[in-house]
Amino acid sequence: MLKGKTALVTGSTSGIGLGYARALAAEGANITINGFGDAAAIETERTRIEKDFGVRAFYSPADMTKPEEIAEMVRKTEQTFGSLDILINNAGIQFVSPIEEFPIDKWNQIIAINLSAAFHAIRAAVPGMKKRKWGRIISTASAHSLVASPFKAAYVSAKHGIAGLTKTVALELATFGITVNCISPGYVWTPLVEKQIPDTMKARNMTADQVKRDVLLAAQPTKEFVTVEEVAALAVYLCSDAAKAITGANLSIDGGWTAA
Ligand code: NAD
Repeated sequence: MLKGKTALVTGSTSGIGLGYARALAAEGANITINGFGDAAAIETERTRIEKDFGVRAFYSPADMTKPEEIAEMVRKTEQTFGSLDILINNAGIQFVSPIEEFPIDKWNQIIAINLSAAFHAIRAAVPGMKKRKWGRIISTASAHSLVASPFKAAYVSAKHGIAGLTKTVALELATFGITVNCISPGYVWTPLVEKQIPDTMKARNMTADQVKRDVLLAAQPTKEFVTVEEVAALAVYLCSDAAKAITGANLSIDGGWTAA
């Protein structure tokens, strides 16, 4: 379905991002992967995408806190593959702390990676998409773009920001064949969720099992984590022609969390 198209997925060395990259490659798209991690492990994932799906994959080490590196990543993708047709803003981090102790540098870092990076990437990618009159821009928001949880001031603020950015850019690009949407997962079992367990244990004085059951899955009526594959399948659908009328939407995939 996506043969001849190029997708750039930020934060795709792990978790949901890697799931998007592999699912889009399975549809024939060439892929730019991005994110941090062990260089050998990233190279293994990059070559696995090429071998498993017969596409080309390029790795950009761009740091999502650095606007000029984001613009350069977009430029290099266009130079390597000839176009950038699908942009997925997905890189994200989390930090859990009561508001009065929330470290200022963590606030700034989360706003930069989880919100401003999407602005910089969209800004750089749109001219090429407009020229070609086709594009798909998808951002990973979160159930936290719709509802809040305590101790996540920066994350919840950034994700609400993603929902607003999505709507604004969707209106601007509506007549150019470019759709702009965000996907809002509930809890997906990835390193990001695993890493916040110790801090939540501390903030709420709970054991790891209590955090999983009483904090994470307490909010999710299905009592099951969403899977990376389910989130990736939604992104693939948004890239299809059948989804060309879906724009400016914030699509929940959260086991019923935000219905409550
Ligand atoms: P993850 O920790 O597995 O992956 C995060 C990715 O972002 C990694 O590839 C990491 O290297 C990259 N990254 C972090 N900082 C970066 C930076 N400065 N520059 C470039 N890359 C950077 O996490 P995940 O759970 O797969 O999260 C992916 C996205 O999904 C995030 O935006 C997150 O907020 C969102 N999300 C996750 C869940 C969940 O339950 N896991 C739920 C809702 C939304």
